[in-house]
Amino acid sequence: MDICIIGGGASSFVCAIKASRRGHKVTILEKNNNPMKKLLLTGNGKCNYFNSEMDSSHYRSSNKELLDEIINSNNIKNTLDFFEEIGVVPRIKNGYYYPYSNTATTIKNLLLVEAERLNINIKTNTYVKDIIHNNKFIIKTNNEDLVCDKVVIATGSNASIKNEEYNVYDILKNLGHTIITPVPALVMLEGKEKYFNDWAGIRSDAVVSLYEDDSFVCSYEGEVQLTNYGISGICVMNLSGRVARGLLENKNEVLRINFMPNVDYAFEYLIDRSESHKNLTIVELLESIINYKLLYVILKKNNINPNKKWDDLSYEEKHTLAKELSSFELRITSTKGLENAQVVSGGVNLMEVNNDFSSKVVDDLYLIGEVLDVDGDCGGYNLGFAFISGLIVGEII
Ligand SMILES: Cc1cc2nc3c(=O)[nH]c(=O)nc-3n(C[C@H](O)[C@H](O)[C@H](O)COP(=O)(O)OP(=O)(O)OC[C@H]3O[C@@H](n4cnc5c(N)ncnc54)[C@H](O)[C@@H]3O)c2cc1C
Repeated sequence: MDICIIGGGASSFVCAIKASRRGHKVTILEKNNNPMKKLLLTGNGKCNYFNSEMDSSHYRSSNKELLDEIINSNNIKNTLDFFEEIGVVPRIKNGYYYPYSNTATTIKNLLLVEAERLNINIKTNTYVKDIIHNNKFIIKTNNEDLVCDKVVIATGSNASIKNEEYNVYDILKNLGHTIITPVPALVMLEGKEKYFNDWAGIRSDAVVSLYEDDSFVCSYEGEVQLTNYGISGICVMNLSGRVARGLLENKNEVLRINFMPNVDYAFEYLIDRSESHKNLTIVELLESIINYKLLYVILKKNNINPNKKWDDLSYEEKHTLAKELSSFELRITSTKGLENAQVVSGGVNLMEVNNDFSSKVVDDLYLIGEVLDVDGDCGGYNLGFAFISGLIVGEII
């Protein structure tokens, strides 16, 4: 059985290796001059390829039930076994899996070695322009037309591919699939506040909660990075896809940031601290727990004199200060865009595939990885899904 896999990235190679080990003749078509270009960028070049807390709560998708079914202990074990089989030694840091070498090239090289051992045909510089399906598939590329029995779409998404054309959503639409508009995810968020220049460079532990049209959506805890355009950090990136979707739908997207995540009630805490340190100014009282630059931003924004002591503040000033420290409101107006996003939220509607990732729309077509409407948190979840879905198809195709 001849199988063509469109795209030579993360999901493609694991799928090709599994299918080829089962005796299939597999061809990978990759538009770039080298496969797995994006994989080399992952985890800051270290490739965070999996997570020990793999479960569906770390993903957003149009079909959560399917994810619940797919991300199970069996598939997790199969994926980790696969990487061990090809020679990857893991280094696990806070649940994040990296190759022990701490370099993404290791994963790329070991996948390539196994693909070459199995004589998988890797055609690079081959841009798929269209796919036509009658009894067989005709794949039209910039070089030649190929005929095959089964096709796997493993083309990833249009995130972070600067100045490159991404045509696969249109090809899939023509084949009858529905595309949920891809929006940037795992991306930095922008606002339009005057104080951004003053808070640029600050890092702080925080709990960040997203409110959409005043309704709570979700919250994440971690380190925020305050910048001259707005805000970043893993916890912010994790909710950025939902912000991008909300902005697309003209919703009001507001982050409420708790800069005192370990304090239950900021107001009571401030009263307690001031009781025991009556001689300290507000800044002196708080600078050991809140970055002093951030304190100045908050005080300036609310016209509170930094030299005042707690007891000298008005009742309103005290409440404002407590609120700003525990629920600082930041209106998000845009994201840093697809070119800066690690993944997209959106893609082929996951309701249109079966639990073996075969298409419900086109016979003998399979879809794996990021081309599907599945996006995960930072921490190896996106590669994790690419690998799990690739292995499932490689096993059954
Ligand atoms: C900077 C950055 C850091 C990241 N870090 C992490 C991380 O640490 N952990 C993690 O889990 N995820 C990370 N990701 C996300 C992760 O890289 C992707 O989710 C993952 O690579 C998706 O795998 P895939 O196989 O679906 O697609 P890809 O790996 O993107 O592969 C798709 C391939 O298809 C090819 N292609 C597309 N269209 C065509 C066409 N028409 N014809 C032929 N070929 C085509 C592309 O050139 C590409 O090589 C990161 C992403 C970026 C950008």
